[in-house]
Amino acid sequence: MNFDFTEEQLMLRKMVRDFAQKEVAPLAYEIDRDERFPYENWKRAGELGLLGITAPEKYGGSGLGVTEMSIVAEEIAAVCVSTCATIIHQACLVIDNFVKNASEQQKERYLPGLCSGEIIGCLAMTEPGAGSDVISMQLRAEKKGDGYVLNGAKTFITNGPNADLAMVYAKTSPELGSRGISVFLIEAGTPGFKKGKKFEKMGWRGSPTGELIFEDCYVPKENLVGNENEGLNILMSGLNSERVIMGVQGAGIARGALEACLAYAKERQQFGKPIAQFQMIQEKLANMYVDVEAGELLAYKGATLCDQGRAGEINKLAAAAKLFGSEIAMRATTEAVQIFGGYGYMKEFPVERYMRDAKLMQIGGGTSEIQRHIISKQLLS
Ligand SMILES: Cc1cc2nc3c(=O)[nH]c(=O)nc-3n(C[C@H](O)[C@H](O)[C@H](O)COP(=O)(O)OP(=O)(O)OC[C@H]3O[C@@H](n4cnc5c(N)ncnc54)[C@H](O)[C@@H]3O)c2cc1C
Repeated sequence: MNFDFTEEQLMLRKMVRDFAQKEVAPLAYEIDRDERFPYENWKRAGELGLLGITAPEKYGGSGLGVTEMSIVAEEIAAVCVSTCATIIHQACLVIDNFVKNASEQQKERYLPGLCSGEIIGCLAMTEPGAGSDVISMQLRAEKKGDGYVLNGAKTFITNGPNADLAMVYAKTSPELGSRGISVFLIEAGTPGFKKGKKFEKMGWRGSPTGELIFEDCYVPKENLVGNENEGLNILMSGLNSERVIMGVQGAGIARGALEACLAYAKERQQFGKPIAQFQMIQEKLANMYVDVEAGELLAYKGATLCDQGRAGEINKLAAAAKLFGSEIAMRATTEAVQIFGGYGYMKEFPVERYMRDAKLMQIGGGTSEIQRHIISKQLLS
């Protein structure tokens, strides 16, 4: 395993770090306060080729891999998790999924707009009654004439309130259980498809989350992604790379918290010296550093294996990367608030936002309990 980035990857990292620090960070407070979509960052991410990072160049993508997507996720998460979630949802869950599973016609129609950011996409699996047990989804797609009629609802959908295009998982053959799921592309404005509530959230406030409602929504068969009842395969095709990316995102959050703490601890004076000189603060900083390094190693190992075409072999490692990234993000941001003391609790410093944003890492994209379940099941099999 090679632990060095290539020259091209280092250049990408520099470019994304500049974007993150000069353009994303200055807006982070405002988009969190106003709970608004980061349009400025979104547009720039499209121009810089970050949305379509894994899409082939002929569709307007950058033609790169999971390692490069991880670099993007880590650098943006280190300054603003909301912006990272918004961008990575499009890059990973929508565009990468399209690249792997959509037909040539679907790619030609939608990928250029998705890569430029002109089309905001979302991926909808979760339902009010189907979260961790997502396979128990109830949204029904019944065959009718040359298409399907959808009835039901999705919830907690990232970018859903702003989406122009939704990739929606539905049951075409409920009697087949997990083997009866199919995936549909549904454009905003399609009769019978409407946006429900936009949620008010603790964190990820710049990344809109909402409900999608389907009432006798007809879609032609051309909107089916892959074949009927192939939804489970489509779901599985991206699962491990998605978990690896979430792991890197967690390491990025922890790194952002560590960087903020290093600067603050050297500057803040108590008892006549910088708090960085107290051993109990040093212990926290050292622990955070170990977590960041370990989180990066685990997640980038996963990314490298995905890029070697071995994503299908790494269920337990990808779950471990997601789990560890989520836990270190929460741990580091909680310690960061502690290191900042009273100021850590105030909105004039970013660490309280980091902590609120980190909490979602243990819930979204499969909870920490579910990752532990996946790992232990495989260990014991
Ligand atoms: C901000 C946000 C954005 C999201 N974005 C999307 C999106 O874009 N698309 C999408 O489809 N979904 C999205 N989700 C949904 C997310 O994936 C689910 O919230 C998550 O999978 C957990 O499901 P749940 O919330 O229904 O919790 P539940 O499944 O109800 O879990 C409740 C608790 O029970 C525990 N639990 C459940 N089953 C087990 C078990 N077998 N063993 C032990 N403990 C268990 C869980 O770990 C958790 O602690 C998003 C969620 C949020 C909050």
